[in-house]
Amino acid sequence: MRAPGTGSLLMTVVTRFAPSPTGMLHLGGVRTALFSWLYARRSGGRFILRVEDTDRERSTDEAVRVILDGMAWLGLGADEGPYFQSQRFERYREVIGEMLKGGSAYHCYCTKEELDAQREQQIARKEKPRYTGVCRERTEPRAGVSPVVRFRNPLTGAVVVQDLVHGPVTFQNTELDDLIIARSDGTPTYNFCVVVDDRDMGVTHVIRGDDHLNNTPRQMNMLEALGATPPAYAHVPMILGPDGAKLSKRHGAVSVLQYQEEGFLPDALLNYLVRLGWSHGDQEIFTREEMIAAFDIHDVNKAASAFNPEKLLWLNQQHMVRAAPASLVPHLRAQLQRVGVDSADQALLEGVILAQRERAKTMKEMAQNSRFFFTEDIEVDPKAAAKHLTGDALALLAKARERLGTLTAWESPAIHAALNDLATQLGMGLGKIAQPLRVAVTGTAASPPIDATLALLGRGRTLARIDAALARA
Ligand code: GLU
Repeated sequence: MRAPGTGSLLMTVVTRFAPSPTGMLHLGGVRTALFSWLYARRSGGRFILRVEDTDRERSTDEAVRVILDGMAWLGLGADEGPYFQSQRFERYREVIGEMLKGGSAYHCYCTKEELDAQREQQIARKEKPRYTGVCRERTEPRAGVSPVVRFRNPLTGAVVVQDLVHGPVTFQNTELDDLIIARSDGTPTYNFCVVVDDRDMGVTHVIRGDDHLNNTPRQMNMLEALGATPPAYAHVPMILGPDGAKLSKRHGAVSVLQYQEEGFLPDALLNYLVRLGWSHGDQEIFTREEMIAAFDIHDVNKAASAFNPEKLLWLNQQHMVRAAPASLVPHLRAQLQRVGVDSADQALLEGVILAQRERAKTMKEMAQNSRFFFTEDIEVDPKAAAKHLTGDALALLAKARERLGTLTAWESPAIHAALNDLATQLGMGLGKIAQPLRVAVTGTAASPPIDATLALLGRGRTLARIDAALARA
């Protein structure tokens, strides 16, 4: 296996995203994934997805599904994986065996009671509680005790993490005790699995949340003990909630798939997240390609940034307005299905997108506002009807029906000209005629411009809905 982080100019960058499926993948995790993915793409390297599911009690299938579906929805494709740590236990056992043999790990027979007593004494002496190392030199097993395996951490010296975000961070080895790498039932522990995987998978750049910075010196020591050069590390700051605390469920930090349900575009979400703690001049809006071209992990800010839902909505609309309409069709259809309608009429779908995208911040909102384009029957809002489908307005609607009925070319400019002409003839503004028409054909008092709305609806539906409104009155 190639040694990672060898520093050679020809070194291929290998990054990984390594979520634990113990909670639902949310925006914090997605941003870490994005940074790792971008850095690999930017450097022409490889991106690995690794599911850290060694904690069998707390890992759930649902959380794994959210990781896999979420990454697919976001388009953060992996070049390798998904690997599952739960399928690599044999490999971890093998490495533990090698370390025991080589002396970089040892069996520890201390009982829980003994460890508790040591701990209490240390606290009484106002020392930081840590394993004292009594079993480091033990050569004989202890009857009746199933041992754990501990890593023999160096006793002296310091570990310097040359963090790409935080700069050099120094940890004294005297602060690090001998970490348990296998429990008494033989199962490997979290930090150890990360080390074996990062080495086996040739990871050159570990990009992760800065809540892991304290694990890094231990991981580096273990990598050194395994004869590997540690990778480069970049610990990215947390995302904070609007109140300044770490973003959590309390702030509505929900599964990433909820953003899909809410009608956000993956590109907009990624654009929002890349700008949290990273900037490129004044540029706010990035396509995926622009992000790849401009992103550099070295430029990530070490201060935490706060989540701003308003800005995410704004960016989402910016992406909706800029996207090729055809690329939004699958998103619109998915959202239409949620409100109980569907259509395979590409021209209609694209037309609705063009007509509606300035007036909706999410694809969900667009679908909700566009239902009437895709159904045979509409429900008319009674308030709108009471205001716009009574008295004089109704007489105007009848006149508009007459005029529209004579139109042969059913297109926006012709519809506009016909209605405008009628308005001039009646000596009133177009709005007076448009409003009863709008309520009659859409069921509500808000829609895109009336000519575009009628053109998209088609002649048959428009006239039938006007007739129905006149008949009801
Ligand atoms: N599995 C860890 C987590 O979900 C990440 C570990 C790592 O990136 O090294 O927080």
